[in-house]
Amino acid sequence: MFNLDLSGKKVWITGGSRGLGKAMAIAFAKAGADVAISWRSGEEAGRAVAQEVEALGRMALSLQCDVTDVGAVEQTRDRIEAAFGGIDVLVNNAGVVRDNLFMMLEDKDWDEVFATNVMGTVHCSRAVIRGMMMKRWGRIINISSIAASRGGRGQSNYAASKGAIESLTQSLAVELASRNILVNCIAPGVIETDMSREVIGLAKELILNHQLLKRFGRPEDIAAWAVMLASDHSAFMTGQIVTVDGGYKLG
Ligand code: NDP
Repeated sequence: MFNLDLSGKKVWITGGSRGLGKAMAIAFAKAGADVAISWRSGEEAGRAVAQEVEALGRMALSLQCDVTDVGAVEQTRDRIEAAFGGIDVLVNNAGVVRDNLFMMLEDKDWDEVFATNVMGTVHCSRAVIRGMMMKRWGRIINISSIAASRGGRGQSNYAASKGAIESLTQSLAVELASRNILVNCIAPGVIETDMSREVIGLAKELILNHQLLKRFGRPEDIAAWAVMLASDHSAFMTGQIVTVDGGYKLG
């Protein structure tokens, strides 16, 4: 029986104001979950996403939370738990790029990317794990990128940060399996969002030539897998990297 019902589940999606995070918020709400999104500066966009979630009959929260700030992350966790009564699913989606050729990248470009992509994932995961341990149920879904395993011109800092997320996924899965907290990761290919606009503008044909399905991904293509990984269909799956890339091939 195929059943993606997440009724009663409480989900926190970082970077939920736009792009993949917004699509995930709506997909989780359609699956029956209550959804908290957080963002760094997109207050208006975040409010609009929360309204869409509420229009689907679910509880919604839209909160400012810079994931690089551990204090802000803990406060946000407290606010979500107070409103929802707990957090069952965390999606570590917030991410940034600071693209440039390796020889042009400065330390601050590495620091900013690692602070958000890697340490943001660390901060939010650490913040929710205790509550999940007490319930002996939890799902952490990290978002990496095909750049982690395949590299990317002008993306050495970003690709390395996503490699760290994939590695972290596996260690967390090992440490948390006995508490029934499953930790998996989605590695998207090129998906049409604000983040990928520049890359698509520069290399549209090149990317499509490498792609078997000959189109860019849609945020909904990734959101569907986030729901899947939170659902009981993924109950026998942890420490995995799910690649959703339209059949992207090198060469
Ligand atoms: P967008 O740039 O469209 O959205 C990024 C989101 O992250 C926004 O909600 C933004 O908030 C939030 N954010 C950024 N920095 C922080 C921070 N320090 N604290 C809190 N929130 C922050 O990105 P996408 O939707 O395209 O990407 C989402 C995830 O998917 C990222 O991890 C990205 O690396 C990954 N990914 C994307 C791919 C693509 O092709 N688009 C491919 C592979 C992976 P605000 O609006 O306030 O700035």
